[in-house]
Amino acid sequence: PIPMEPPRIHLLDQAVVNRIAAGEVVQRPVSAVKELIENSLDADSTSISVVVKDGGLKLIQVSDDGHGIPYDDLPILCERHTTSKLSKFEDLQSIKSMGFRGEALASMTYVGHVTVTTITKGQLHGYRATYRDGIMEHEPKACAAVKGTQIMIENLFYNMSARRKTLQNSADDYPKIVDLICRFAIHHSSVSFSCRKHGAARPDVHSVVTSSRLDAIRSVYGVSVARNLIKIDASDSDPSSSVFSMDGFISNSNYIAKKTIMVLFINDRLVECGALKRAIEIVYTATLPKASKPFIYMSIKLPTEHVDVNIHPTKREVSLLNQEIIIEKIQSAIELKLRSSNESRTFDEQM
Ligand code: ADP
Ligand code: MG
Repeated sequence: PIPMEPPRIHLLDQAVVNRIAAGEVVQRPVSAVKELIENSLDADSTSISVVVKDGGLKLIQVSDDGHGIPYDDLPILCERHTTSKLSKFEDLQSIKSMGFRGEALASMTYVGHVTVTTITKGQLHGYRATYRDGIMEHEPKACAAVKGTQIMIENLFYNMSARRKTLQNSADDYPKIVDLICRFAIHHSSVSFSCRKHGAARPDVHSVVTSSRLDAIRSVYGVSVARNLIKIDASDSDPSSSVFSMDGFISNSNYIAKKTIMVLFINDRLVECGALKRAIEIVYTATLPKASKPFIYMSIKLPTEHVDVNIHPTKREVSLLNQEIIIEKIQSAIELKLRSSNESRTFDEQM
């Protein structure tokens, strides 16, 4: 056989690079909604409402009453790596905002059509601008606006036909979006959230502002969940093992469900932690006689330098220092609570 020339290496077009990267940050409609809500929370909003059409493929619209975006920043708003939240790499250690990389909005403009309407404090009118591939398409137009920012993403993945097809073939993202908003709503109970389908008269989620976490859970997950919850907390302040504090609500032995619901916030970021979830399920199976899958809302606070927030393109996972020790401590706190609540229940039944 004739020896083959090795394929030559060339630099990809920036547009191709950007679209590939964008597809990782915005994997599906629900990931776009998460980024937009996090931006609204970072902007100190007290009210966030979401409208979705066709599972988010036709339209995602997130409106907030936050601080808005200055007119002068609109031209670079959707460029890659433009952010108001991070300056130096070292700042990542202490970052409190949920965003930091300036990639979310840029990504959306590479895989969808983005329109931003915003007004800042003291202005008489707002501005509207549209974006494609990171670039503002024309000068911002003056328009009427109420407080805050509204971001609209249309035709998500219009230029990624494989992604669009797989999404169209499976169940749409609307239930995932509703689920996401319920989670945010119970943690950020001082912010009112709503979510509805485009054209629907009634929202599917509508949370009211409350100072009671249990009330917040009741308002989004219903009475049947809220009445079967136990308050839980745990903490450790020994720097040689782990430093953390945790509080939340977990279901008791009367709660019955086929699937675990685990709502986990670490330093106010909505994240997933498979290891912790499994560890908790094990405690439930081992402790409760007719073990059901639990409902768990948990907020864990750690020193910011113990959390690496930058390990996943969607920021869905974080890595923790001393994760095993923290998990063990949480397991024993839950076991203790479940045992004592189960005993008092058995006692009640005997009376
Ligand atoms: P990041 O959140 O990582 O900074 P984004 O691409 O999500 O990056 O947003 C870029 C910037 O746009 C933010 O840093 C913020 O200044 C501004 N921004 C985005 N959404 C909003 C919003 N809803 N309200 C006010 N400012 C916003
Ligand atoms: Mg962001």
